[in-house]
Amino acid sequence: MATASSGSKRTPKSSAAPEVSVLRVGHRPGRDPRLTTHAALAARALGARRMYLNPPDPDLIDRLLAVDRRWGGGFEVVPVTDWKGLVRSFDGTVAHLTMYGLPLARVLPRLRRARRILLVVGGAKVPPDLYRLAGVNVAVGNQPHSEVAALAVTLVGILGLPTSRAPRGARFAIVPQARGKRVVERPRAP
Ligand code: SAM
Repeated sequence: MATASSGSKRTPKSSAAPEVSVLRVGHRPGRDPRLTTHAALAARALGARRMYLNPPDPDLIDRLLAVDRRWGGGFEVVPVTDWKGLVRSFDGTVAHLTMYGLPLARVLPRLRRARRILLVVGGAKVPPDLYRLAGVNVAVGNQPHSEVAALAVTLVGILGLPTSRAPRGARFAIVPQARGKRVVERPRAP
């Protein structure tokens, strides 16, 4: 499987924290690049290690990697043609986020104990096989909303709130301000 990454590795928040990957199925290249981009940015910013993208979308992957080169962290974006193969062979807990699933609060203790998690989010249409292949179907409230919101709430539930520390390899770091913007350029490693 081809892997696209900007290089540096993201370290988990603590040694006990699960390593979280995201699988986005049903992406429509050319139709919803913005939504998939937001799902990937949220996943990256909230502690996921990589996003598998099905079907592949090289332009979108390039744009996401450009973000990672500026802001660091080593988030990977991996093109996937056979999403079922990935789900079947994943060495960890596969949690499909769906409004029809079990309440997140009930599943969270199990997710927090896992070593590796694959969070799967769908698009406009979700392949029916996903409900059967997933280890667990999880709902962030049993109402329809969005893959970005579902991912964000679930990642915070598993990994906690993100810190304001710039990740490893970041070229720029934001200095939090009550008002206005302050961004500093970090020295390049020799
Ligand atoms: N029509 C789709 C279906 O059959 O389930 C849902 C489309 S929804 C716009 C896109 C994605 O958002 C879903 O595949 C799911 O991953 C996520 N999602 C939306 N509402 C959710 C909820 N209440 N809990 C968990 N995930 C949700």
